[in-house]
Amino acid sequence: MEYNKKRFNNKLPNEDGYFGEYGGSFIPPNLEEIMKEINSEYQKAINDESFLNELHDLYKNYVGRPSPIFYAKSLSKKYGAKIYFKREDLNHTGAHKINHCLGEALLAKRMGKKKIIAETGAGQHGVALATSAALLGLECDIYMGEVDIKKEYPNVIRMKILGAKVIPVTAGLKTLKDAVDEAFNQYLADPVNQFYAIGSVVGPHPFPMMVRDFQTVVGYEAKEQFLNLTGKAPDNLVACVGGGSNAIGLFTAFLDNKDIDIYGVEPSGLDINTDGQHAATLTKGTVGIMHGFKSYMLQNEKGEPLEVYSVASGLDYPSVGPQHSYLKDIKRVNYKHINDKEAISAFFEISKLEGIIPAIESAHAIAYSFKLAKEKPNSTILVNLSGRGDKDIDFVVENYGFGN
Ligand SMILES: *Cc1c(COP(=O)(O)O)cnc(C)c1O
Repeated sequence: MEYNKKRFNNKLPNEDGYFGEYGGSFIPPNLEEIMKEINSEYQKAINDESFLNELHDLYKNYVGRPSPIFYAKSLSKKYGAKIYFKREDLNHTGAHKINHCLGEALLAKRMGKKKIIAETGAGQHGVALATSAALLGLECDIYMGEVDIKKEYPNVIRMKILGAKVIPVTAGLKTLKDAVDEAFNQYLADPVNQFYAIGSVVGPHPFPMMVRDFQTVVGYEAKEQFLNLTGKAPDNLVACVGGGSNAIGLFTAFLDNKDIDIYGVEPSGLDINTDGQHAATLTKGTVGIMHGFKSYMLQNEKGEPLEVYSVASGLDYPSVGPQHSYLKDIKRVNYKHINDKEAISAFFEISKLEGIIPAIESAHAIAYSFKLAKEKPNSTILVNLSGRGDKDIDFVVENYGFGN
């Protein structure tokens, strides 16, 4: 189990949850003890072979790991570099999110919690969590804005079939941010029986660390697979960044290898130069505190989050995981952006040239890999294909036709 231990043994964050100046824990006093307890139970769990064995058994026999790496021959021929996809879209429930949801649910169960709760925007995190709860016999409450419930109805149905309770949030704009606020309030009301399973590498310490550690399975698998496939490490890594979990999941195993260029791709939506029309936090944001942690964020003069937009609902978050802010400052990762139009065009291209319909989120990473391939012909590029596009097809066809 050497492989497991390495994944859970990272240099950062420090004991207080800081990656450089980012991260930490900015929460009400009654939650401080609870977060400390979650952290200490987490440390025990990852040093317990039986916990790691159970997690790995689920990854293998339930999720279908390891996910393959696929060499995209037609796209490579067209763009001039060798493009490879890490196929997280093939996981049970269709994306990388199941990797951390199972980890969080197993930890909640180990701690004797009865119920796991979370917010969801597009419903992807909600479905992965409801799945984990069903499997492990936990209750599950998912808070979701009324607007999103209408927009993402198939995912609402899935969560209900899986036995979760979907609780409509009617405050504010009735979308993700309001759902976060409501889930947080409900968590504060009973942090003893409930476990708040955060959906990305965000929130107060220890969540950015825990969710990252669970996702590092992606990169550690990929490192070995890529070496077996090509005899070398990849020259470039590319992943999309919403909160940043699929990206840090791929990047972590490769961070020490300075020969590898790493790219995180944010959504520039309709217009990167207009507030409210993009969600490119690391490109356009400033340092602030929101949802319990310090990071770059898109904020107004009062420090309130700005409205954000992307065609990919999984990417429109006004902050970003604190480790990404740190990796930006130390220049280890290059953060780039791709707009709606480029993402949709990549969505159709990989569909028609490789027979893979990607999530619109993942299409941002794919679109950037095309640009990179033109700049660095003959190099190898490993892209994290974070999820499949089944959830997006109705929306895409309604708004963009069939891409012919
Ligand atoms: C949720 C989601 C994302 C964005 O979340 P990260 O935490 O940035 O990875 C990306 N791709 C897919 C398919 C998603 O469901």
